[in-house]
Amino acid sequence: MIRPSLDSGPVALAAYVARLFCDSHRLAYAHLAPDLKIVHASPNFAPLLTTAAAAPMEGQALTDLLEEFVGAEEALAAVLSGKEAVYRLDRINRQLPDGSTVYLSFQVIPFNDLYPEAGLLLIAEETTTETQLEQRLVQDRNELRLLQVELAQANEQLQHLNRLKSFFVSMAAHDMRLPLTAIKGYSEMLLDFLPNEHLDKQRHFTAIIHSQAHRLGQLLNGLLDVEQIEQGKLVLKLSEVNLGTAVQEAMNGLNVMALNRNLSLLVELPEQEVQIQADAERVEQILYNLISNGLKYTRDEGYVRVSLHCQNGQAVIDVADNGLGMTSEQMDKLFEPYYRTDEARKSRATGAGIGLFIAKTLAEAHHGSIAVESKRGQGSTFTVRLPLRQPLP
Ligand code: ADP
Repeated sequence: MIRPSLDSGPVALAAYVARLFCDSHRLAYAHLAPDLKIVHASPNFAPLLTTAAAAPMEGQALTDLLEEFVGAEEALAAVLSGKEAVYRLDRINRQLPDGSTVYLSFQVIPFNDLYPEAGLLLIAEETTTETQLEQRLVQDRNELRLLQVELAQANEQLQHLNRLKSFFVSMAAHDMRLPLTAIKGYSEMLLDFLPNEHLDKQRHFTAIIHSQAHRLGQLLNGLLDVEQIEQGKLVLKLSEVNLGTAVQEAMNGLNVMALNRNLSLLVELPEQEVQIQADAERVEQILYNLISNGLKYTRDEGYVRVSLHCQNGQAVIDVADNGLGMTSEQMDKLFEPYYRTDEARKSRATGAGIGLFIAKTLAEAHHGSIAVESKRGQGSTFTVRLPLRQPLP
């Protein structure tokens, strides 16, 4: 096709555009007389309609060719008179002999705005791809809505189960604490009563009962803490806390563990006292969890070093060890409740995977944080930051 130059005039240009139209497989047109009979149609008009109507198109009534226009005569008259700018029919479907469906859209506009007697221009467009995409979008949206409803229901069910679980765990942990206290108390008494020269085995077994009952007590307390945290019922009892003393207190309970494993438990405290507003018991719990982890996950004869200093309005406590260390993937999950690394599970170190979750939640409840740096096989450093002054509530 020869492309017209700009000075070849509007008629040549219009003819060129009309040819472009006709060459397109998606667009066709028909010129309609005011009585809605076809005056002229582009050669691709009949094929686009997928109609078996006999040629020529000229002289045929629009409503005979396209029954969807039956009843639209008034609206078309409004377009003809200039009352309406356009009349549209969308998503008209036609079944092809091979069973597939094509979709068509029609637009009717005045052929010439100034002369109604010039009739109308009908532009037909094949919109199968767009319509199918639209339909798929609507279908996907409906499926998504259905999934959202299902998700909300599953969520509600999970919350209900979670409440039941919390209720059961709290009840069981409370009920178990009483007999446990008796076991601990009586085994302690037995250790006091048994004369030193008494059978070694009896003292040894009683000591095991006592230490295991103590461990079980700690585990129950941990489970109760997790429940309290998850239900948002954690309450802090704030007072002036000397952090150096809290570090020492936490370490006192762990010296025996370090001695038994031949681990060095080192401490570096500043000369000046570091005082913060905090819940003393909970701060000790944070430190105890981190230091005991350092001892648990470090090979015999390694070290755990605890240091305290102040920086940018915060008290900073580092708990560093040269133990198992972790990969970055493991570090990502470290503070999730009940998470334990494979190495920890395989090691002789016992645990339930809740200590770090509790420690992090407690630090955050004090407007502080816990961060970790670690390299597998080379050790880890946990850093606790607590504000020197509590922000105003
Ligand atoms: P627990 O020690 O009872 O398993 P924690 O919540 O205290 O639970 O710790 C979660 C996991 O993080 C541990 O099981 C262990 O895999 C890993 N972990 C914690 N501290 C250390 C550490 N200092 N070195 C190496 N791994 C650690």
